[in-house]
Amino acid sequence: YKRQDLYLVMFLTLFVTLLTASFFAKRFAIHLSRPLRFVMDELSKGKETGDFRDVPYETPKEIQKLYQELKVNRLALLKNQKELQNQVLERTNALNQANQKLTEQANTDTLTRLYNRRYFEKNFKIMQSIFSRNNSSLMYAIIDLDFFKNINDTHGHLFGDYCLVTVANMLKKFFNRDSDLVARFGGEEFIIVAQSNDNNGVLQMLEEFREEIEQHSFPHDSHNFVNITISIGTITAKAKFSANIDDWVRLADEQLYHAKSRGRNQLSNNNLTCLLYTSPS
Ligand code: GH3
Ligand code: MG
Ligand code: MG
Repeated sequence: YKRQDLYLVMFLTLFVTLLTASFFAKRFAIHLSRPLRFVMDELSKGKETGDFRDVPYETPKEIQKLYQELKVNRLALLKNQKELQNQVLERTNALNQANQKLTEQANTDTLTRLYNRRYFEKNFKIMQSIFSRNNSSLMYAIIDLDFFKNINDTHGHLFGDYCLVTVANMLKKFFNRDSDLVARFGGEEFIIVAQSNDNNGVLQMLEEFREEIEQHSFPHDSHNFVNITISIGTITAKAKFSANIDDWVRLADEQLYHAKSRGRNQLSNNNLTCLLYTSPS
């Protein structure tokens, strides 16, 4: 051989060897990377049931083993996640319930479970503004128990409390429309605000309620019954008469005073519904 031929053969041999090596390296890489990619895909799908597919390719034992371990870890992780989610959900529900209870407590009178003054004043504003837009009339009533100090002094404060709760329950039953607002204003005073387009209707109802209380016997003990009466001061007017609750309170209080001074156990009303109003704007 010539020296040049020898070089050529060497060069060709080297070239072929290089080609073969790179071919096998590529095959080997595919052999590793395909199952690895499959494993990653399968794990990321996150099946809580754990039904992961088997690697469909011929796979090195190490990757199979790795896949097994990763599956176990993945399942544990998913289980923890689920538990955490449930815990958060439970806590959120409990918190919402507590919040709702708190709002309820802030709005209700502890003795009678009627709405308290705070809630009443807030909702009166809303009611007054809605009824104003409808050009509706409102009835604002103050109910005050007669000689209640006497009842307490004679029969005890606990019996007094019992009477307040009973009157409150009867009131709730009597004025049970969604649009009726019934509240305890403090002490032995209750407030009712209702729509009164049919002016006589709502006053008639109050009159009936007064009679019901008059006829109700409050059992003091198994032998003794006590009768109590109420006085009612009301004002009926177009809702737009005033957006200021104090105006309504003042005029209703005036009527309550009349009812008391005329002998109690009666209703006194001031009817302003016929007044003409000039629009403020
Ligand atoms: P009038 O007919 O003029 O209304 O006389 P009255 O005795 O009812 O009026 P007064 O305002 O002098 O007394 C109200 C009484 O109501 C005094 C108080 O002891 C009683 N009272 C107020 N709040 C409560 C309560 O929560 N429970 C009890 N048991 N009594 C209460
Ligand atoms: Mg009073
Ligand atoms: Mg009283």
